[in-house]
Amino acid sequence: MSSILVFCSVQDGRIKRSSLEAMSRAREVASEAGLSLSAAILGSESGNLSSEAMSYGAEQVFTVSNPVLDSHLNAPALSALESIIREASPRMMVAASTESVKDILGALAIRCDAAVLPDVATFEMSGNQVACQRPVMAAKKLASTSSAHPLVFVSVRSGSYEASRSPVSGTVTDVPFSFDDATLRQALREVVTTASDTVDLSEARVVVSAGRGVRDESGRALVQELADITGAAIGASRAVVETGLFPATAQIGQTGKVVSPDLYFAVGISGAVQHTAGMANSRIIVAINKDADAPIFDIATYGLVGDCFTILPLLNAALKEAKD
Ligand SMILES: Cc1cc2nc3c(=O)[nH]c(=O)nc-3n(C[C@H](O)[C@H](O)[C@H](O)COP(=O)(O)OP(=O)(O)OC[C@H]3O[C@@H](n4cnc5c(N)ncnc54)[C@H](O)[C@@H]3O)c2cc1C
Repeated sequence: MSSILVFCSVQDGRIKRSSLEAMSRAREVASEAGLSLSAAILGSESGNLSSEAMSYGAEQVFTVSNPVLDSHLNAPALSALESIIREASPRMMVAASTESVKDILGALAIRCDAAVLPDVATFEMSGNQVACQRPVMAAKKLASTSSAHPLVFVSVRSGSYEASRSPVSGTVTDVPFSFDDATLRQALREVVTTASDTVDLSEARVVVSAGRGVRDESGRALVQELADITGAAIGASRAVVETGLFPATAQIGQTGKVVSPDLYFAVGISGAVQHTAGMANSRIIVAINKDADAPIFDIATYGLVGDCFTILPLLNAALKEAKD
């Protein structure tokens, strides 16, 4: 039986939430289309993660456990995935739209003669077509795209689907793979991560995001306090990244990260289209802005009109009390 193969991105020894979301949707599509569900996991810990993939419905898990894959370099990842695709012969490969997937998907498609539908918000199979909807024009519109190619790669935006378990007892196939390190033309010098006590922005269920209205260190401290109380990752608009108040890694939007948490606080952010392109898919948006006509209120679920230096201390105190 042909399959839908889900490439599982791994971070800190776990399959990323965004991959599990994509896998949960792939399971539904596979079941509707009469296909089986399989998973691809790379890296020296791939064997240990097979059972996690099975708990989300993967009937067959293909692993390549060579440690060269722990380095997050494109060349070995490309070769390993190509080997798995040749072994698995799937009808479709689905992956979370992470930065590393964006890096390799085009090259992988050329190697495997596949069509690519990248960065989609929805996907389904309709007859022999894979049909997707993809946010375009800074997420103002959804474009419908489809492909009837025999092999289609789909990358799915984080937060587009819920991750849900559906355990099966599957099989594991360790795919033979060798890679000559001497052919590498890149070297991994350093992995730069945000502080270990902070939450990963792209995987966070709650994001507190700061804009120009947050203004200075005292505003940043209030935002940090709200993030600590709610267990949130901290994001920022480009305006406050440019002032140096927040790091470039926190920028959300068209030229920053795309997030879709359950809860997004927009503090002192006007809601320019270049910012909302990166967060409009959030489930609940709480906007705090002193300008009642700020465009962010057009997409907010809840709006608090007022000075964030007045509102945040009250909100933080109330949330802390409720939590206690
Ligand atoms: C090609 C291009 C790409 C871009 N990419 C991005 C991107 O990826 N991400 C991004 O964010 N931007 C991006 N921008 C910039 C974007 O257009 C906006 O300039 C930016 O998002 C504005 O940030 P802001 O909302 O923080 O600031 P502003 O637009 O200045 O808004 C500040 C808001 O804070 C409110 N405010 C002020 N003081 C307070 C207070 N004390 N309490 C409560 N509210 C207060 C104001 O009423 C205002 O609404 C891009 C622009 C271009 C041209």
